[in-house]
Amino acid sequence: MPPLRPRGQRRIERTNDRRVKLERARTVRWWLAWQLSQLDQQIAKWEREEAAAKAARPLPPPAEWLLQRGIGQGRPPVAIHAGSCRLAGSHAAPLSEAEARRALGNGLPGCEVCDPEAVLGYDPA
Ligand SMILES: [Zn+2]
Repeated sequence: MPPLRPRGQRRIERTNDRRVKLERARTVRWWLAWQLSQLDQQIAKWEREEAAAKAARPLPPPAEWLLQRGIGQGRPPVAIHAGSCRLAGSHAAPLSEAEARRALGNGLPGCEVCDPEAVLGYDPA
């Protein structure tokens, strides 16, 4: 038979258990907050490093020639432009000089503004 406890002993034990649990929970909460702050610092460091690496990467050279494509199915080729011509549109495909000459030779018109035929010395005759 277990020893008899005075009245109220059980209540004191429950109160002590609750205090211990509360203290543990506060400790775990502090530790998790510390871990989160460490992770935030590491993420910020990696983001800074990524931004620095991206800034250090050189941009690819601009295309020498551009193939302007039309709208609609298959986006048919429309015209040849010099690489710096803004009339080619944002979805123009880059071309080498040989490809631009070949496209002009196949009857694709050159842009009237940047005049790739004159720049390439292309003579359609
Ligand atoms: Zn053009």
